[in-house]
Order: sequence, then structure tokens, then C-alpha cells
Amino acid sequence: MATVWLVPLLSLLLVCRAAPAEPLFRQILGWGGGDPAVVAPAAAEVGVTDLAVWNHDPAYLTRLAAAARPLGLKTYSCIWLGEQPAWQRYFPGVAPPLQQMNAAEEAAAVAIAAELKAGPSVYQYGGEPVRAGLEVFTDPLLCPHDPRVAELFRRQIADLLAVEGLRGIAFDYFGYRNYRTCHCPVSQAAQAAWQAQHPEVEPARAAARFALESLVGLCNALADHARRL
Ligand SMILES: [Zn+2]
Repeated sequence: MATVWLVPLLSLLLVCRAAPAEPLFRQILGWGGGDPAVVAPAAAEVGVTDLAVWNHDPAYLTRLAAAARPLGLKTYSCIWLGEQPAWQRYFPGVAPPLQQMNAAEEAAAVAIAAELKAGPSVYQYGGEPVRAGLEVFTDPLLCPHDPRVAELFRRQIADLLAVEGLRGIAFDYFGYRNYRTCHCPVSQAAQAAWQAQHPEVEPARAAARFALESLVGLCNALADHARRL
């Protein structure tokens, strides 16, 4: 049975500097990639128990799992809402349904991109540290409310879990570019339908409730799908 890791949006690599004499944690997840013959023994040496990679190549994942398993390491392939290459693979010739932001948010994205392009910066997305002014994620992300995105991930998860030795799927970057919601027509229609079904929710809080519940619902549905495979 597959194990699914649910990781909040914009979480990053977990690093372990040295293996303690007595393990302090049951699981330590290393997030990254590289040559399996190098990565697996290096991860095991510092006490990592699980490896997640942003790689969907069955041949690579098979090699990684084969190198990791004798060392007691479990391996996961990571999926995320930035999956435009996967979108083109599963929906060739179809424009990806990307999240949309409002004008102020788009302007913030342009400003952040310019700041990063200008040279060394202390900026780190996700509030690490919190940026003065409006904060958004600069990279395009698929809209979690478009039913085709859920279909994309269901197909991708099934293909990935067919890889021999892969322990499960890791989720990353499941969230909104503006950290709030998506302003595309599909999302707005979905929110209106949700509000019609939840008249007890104050209008001022409806957008946030819908954005959270719909995103968590997608992640849980995909996790259930993975566990059934
Ligand atoms: Zn949308």
C-alpha cells in the first residue's frame, strides 16, 4: 500500500547534519535528487530515513529505489501544482489551466521577480522572512479547482506508483500563488457554488473557507486515490 506525504505549500528541503547515536525521530525526510549511487549512501550516512525527489522518470526512480532499499531508505516521487510538463504530457496541445491573480498581485509578482533578478536578495518566498508589502509566489501554478487538474494528478499518481520499489507520493506546492485563492473563472464559479451550499458562512469569510476546504479536499482525494492503488 502506498504512503502519501502531505506537505504544506512552499515547504522546503529538510536537512539533517549528523546522525545522532540514538535516533531522535522515527522519520527524517530528505528532499532533492541526484545520482542514486551517491545520494542514497550519503542520505543513509546522515540518518535520513525517507527520500523524496522531484523526478518522474520511471528509469531514474527505479534506480533510486534499488539503491535506497538495501540501506533501509524509502523513496517517494514528488508532485506539485507547478506541473506544466506533466500537463503537456497528459493533455497534449491543451493550454494549462493556470491560477490567476488580481492586478495588485500580478504587480507584486513582477516586483519580486525584478528584485531577484537584480542580484543578491534576502527574499525567500513563503515568508522566510516575511516580505514587506504584498507577497505572492512568482512561478505559475495550475488551478486546483479545474477538474482536469485532479484528473492529471490521478493519472500521474497511477503511473508513478507502477514504478517498482517506489514507496509513495510526496505532495509539495499545493497552494495558491497569492496564498489566498485563485481568481480564474473556474475558481470563481466553484466558489459561488460553494457559497450557495453554505449560506451559514458569513460572506466575508466565505472566500477563505472555500479556498482552504477545496484545496484540502483535493489533497485528500488524491491521497485516497493513491492509497487505493
Ligand atoms: Zn482557478
